[in-house]
Amino acid sequence: MAARKKKNIVYPALGQGVRLIDTHCHLDMDHYHEDFTEIIDRARKHGVDRIITVGIDLASSRTAIRLAEENPGVFAAIGIHPHNVGNSADNDYRQLQALADNPLVVAYGEIGLDFHYNYAPVEVQIEHFTRQVELARQLELPLVVHDRDAHREVLDILTGAGPFPMGGVMHCFSGDSDFARAVVDLGFHLSIPGVVTFKKAAVLQEAVRGVPLERIILETDGPFLAPEPRRGRRNEPALLLFTAQKVAELKGLDLDEVAAATTANAEKLFRLPRRQGNGL
Ligand SMILES: [Zn+2]
Ligand SMILES: [Zn+2]
Repeated sequence: MAARKKKNIVYPALGQGVRLIDTHCHLDMDHYHEDFTEIIDRARKHGVDRIITVGIDLASSRTAIRLAEENPGVFAAIGIHPHNVGNSADNDYRQLQALADNPLVVAYGEIGLDFHYNYAPVEVQIEHFTRQVELARQLELPLVVHDRDAHREVLDILTGAGPFPMGGVMHCFSGDSDFARAVVDLGFHLSIPGVVTFKKAAVLQEAVRGVPLERIILETDGPFLAPEPRRGRRNEPALLLFTAQKVAELKGLDLDEVAAATTANAEKLFRLPRRQGNGL
């Protein structure tokens, strides 16, 4: 992919002082290894000045914290992804608990259920998801939930866990309007990925139209799921502009309104410190 020449694309421009937050990206992945600094610079240049990098196991949670420490404007989420729960032990959770003391850790996740791949058996996924919801509650961190082909089960577990005052987000939201409403009723946010720009994403687009803007945040889920016009290529935080633009179009609002609102929503959910002046 690196060898392929990039076609120039025109990024939508944000108004003065308007910024975006990429609430879900995997900055630790190999895909970013070679040109990490350029990726961060390009994000800043286009107004994506805060990024939450999300752990999928103990090692990547540690890396997420290190990246947050090294890069102003980067924050960490820690947890064990449903793909990886089969290999996780009590000791991993003790260590995650200790890592959560770091003030740059702003969320617990990503955790959840993935019945599409089923890398871990269903019962194991359910057991670890439930356990991590409780751990997040103890740690008083909002949840970052991964749900693939498991809408009902995820909802059952979250509902069964009782009120979750710190809130959370259904990341890379992929449900329909009914599921969106259920997520909102639960008190959670929906994080909208680049998929919303795809031609065949009518169901997701309809869900976005129906959800109150105050419950929407935006993500790349980079390096995966790049929005149009970069579909199929590596995703990165700067491309969040295209997702924001599509959400604005669906909502009949200006890009700046959607950017300002989703940024405020993410600041509140993840209790992010305000930017200081121009710096990250
Ligand atoms: Zn995920
Ligand atoms: Zn992810």
